Amino acid sequence: MEIVILVASSSQEEPYEVTVSLDLNILAIHCTCAAGEWGKYCKHKTAVVLGDTTALHGGGQSQSFEKARQWIIESQLPKLFEEIAEAEKKAAAATVHAKKIKEKTAKSMNEGVAHGN
Ligand SMILES: [Zn+2]
Repeated sequence: MEIVILVASSSQEEPYEVTVSLDLNILAIHCTCAAGEWGKYCKHKTAVVLGDTTALHGGGQSQSFEKARQWIIESQLPKLFEEIAEAEKKAAAATVHAKKIKEKTAKSMNEGVAHGN
């Protein structure tokens, strides 16, 4: 079984097709965008997985979108997306921490630091 969801493109008028397929308890999601064609992570697949209805191209898809969402919710994908969100949160915190250390280091270089161990 498969469901095709039309997701709006930010770079072209034609929407991308995100196909959610469920066969023998294996759920797969593919997208027709450039990244998707390479089997990579893309924002169109992400929008479908996260249930972002604002990304949909045109109306009349709510029933198929809901069914695809139900398949997704019952899969391992939400857990993986939680892992991504967690990792991105940690990465953002690490960036803030690195910036603080850089500011402290710049101040130390300007004002001077103790010489020797
Ligand atoms: Zn895509």
